[in-house]
Amino acid sequence: MGRVVVIDHPLAQAILTTLRDKNTKQIEFRKGLVRLGRLMGYEIVKSMDIETVEVETPLGVKAKGVRIKDLDHVVIIQVLRAAMPLVEGLVKIFANARMGVVSARRVEESHKPGSLNFDIEVTYVKVPRIFGDDVLIIADPMLATGSTIVTVLRHVLKYGNPKRTIVVSVIATRYGIERVFKEYPFAEIYTVSIDPELNERGYIIPGLGDAGDRAFGG
Ligand code: URA
Repeated sequence: MGRVVVIDHPLAQAILTTLRDKNTKQIEFRKGLVRLGRLMGYEIVKSMDIETVEVETPLGVKAKGVRIKDLDHVVIIQVLRAAMPLVEGLVKIFANARMGVVSARRVEESHKPGSLNFDIEVTYVKVPRIFGDDVLIIADPMLATGSTIVTVLRHVLKYGNPKRTIVVSVIATRYGIERVFKEYPFAEIYTVSIDPELNERGYIIPGLGDAGDRAFGG
């Protein structure tokens, strides 16, 4: 079964608390997502492949160090639109990443209250070719029912088989995580919180509301 990493760093938890607060306004909300993207990127780097290297300092002596091999093989996919600020933060860490976008929308009109499944409308997919030594990162701030992410993964993985497939979601639910692992047991999920519930409309409880609306307006 896949791997779940819950980032319990106090700074990540404090930023998430600000995001949850209904009094946090749009600009602060976006800034919080950017900062979390950066922190989540740091966390992913911890598990990346490294090699030891040697450099010569200006003092003419050798110093042993590391090179993170995977940094040159990262593909980031942002799920429009809510992931945009999160990706802005991730790109600060993965500056050489190749980027793709998927525009996916939950079709609320066809959703039956209480159902844990949404129809997902995908209107645009632009993804670079993915190679066997790539670390694929799919960014979507909310992993709720998992309907969006499994649909996005289905589209994205047509472009190749990466070495690792990582979903970056600020808040996840057990249901969403299990749904991803059922279809993609090799996936890894990085999150700042696993929240306990989903409401009748498929929103995460306590959650933070609609991430796209809070970041960009309704
Ligand atoms: N998408 C959101 O933006 N918020 C939720 O709670 C669930 C899905």
